[in-house]
Amino acid sequence: MPLVPLPELLEHAEQNRYAVGYFESWDVYSLEATVAAAEENRSPVIIGIGGLSANHGWLREHGIHLYGAVSEMLAKRAGVPVATLFNEADSFAEAAGGLGAGFNSVMMHTQGWSQDRLIADTAALVAAAHAVDVAVEGEIGALAEVKDGVLQEAGASYTTPEAGETFVRETNVDCLAVAVGNVHFVTGGHTPTVQVDLIRQIRDAVKVPLVLHGGSGTPDDQTRLAVAAGITKVNVGTRLKHVFGQALARELQAPVEDPNLAFGSRFDGDLNSRAAAALAREIQRLMDVFGSSGKA
Ligand SMILES: [Zn+2]
Repeated sequence: MPLVPLPELLEHAEQNRYAVGYFESWDVYSLEATVAAAEENRSPVIIGIGGLSANHGWLREHGIHLYGAVSEMLAKRAGVPVATLFNEADSFAEAAGGLGAGFNSVMMHTQGWSQDRLIADTAALVAAAHAVDVAVEGEIGALAEVKDGVLQEAGASYTTPEAGETFVRETNVDCLAVAVGNVHFVTGGHTPTVQVDLIRQIRDAVKVPLVLHGGSGTPDDQTRLAVAAGITKVNVGTRLKHVFGQALARELQAPVEDPNLAFGSRFDGDLNSRAAAALAREIQRLMDVFGSSGKA
């Protein structure tokens, strides 16, 4: 199964009424675990890395190209349809600098930008990306986020159907991330309330597939309703690092007796492989929630 263009993946999801998960990775183990989970569940999937929590100096130096190459290779060898995403670049320059790295879709984190910069830079990225067959996810509206356990709502705003329609028409993005009560960086403590009616209204007004970020904190029942209302891509990041970190911490409680086995061996005693197995189980569970299991 080749690397599949993101719009093709999302069109299939739209027609068959499910959502494809973007499960954000941070290393080779997490990328491999995501593909393994997709193959196990016979689910389409989106793999990649994101800029929201990463060191941008490292990303630009070589991180984007390093993980773009790994992501593309894994996608090409996968037994299920896979798209690759460089998520939430911090600027046009960073996103455009990643074109050709191996990701067949890209997104900028534009929250807090002026309307003029948002439209101009998104339209410019779409033109540059489409010229090399890379899809662009745009966003309008701004998510609240949890920082140090506290909900930060300053600057957050809902996506309106009118603003969504205008933005897509003016920029020609391939899919649209919406702010409908979803929240970034939730690991517990705060429970977001997703406005399902608003998703329906945006769905009716906007021609391209809709994306729900903040999949880590949205309860499963709300995610199912959001998918039924017209969401065809759900982003999950924070929760995956949380699951992996907890599993790794458990593994490290016992003294490491054979470092050659524990680190990088890929045998059963490889601690990162063990944590990655817990990660894959959580991804498989989320694929069931999104309705994508069995759709590949
Ligand atoms: Zn996000």
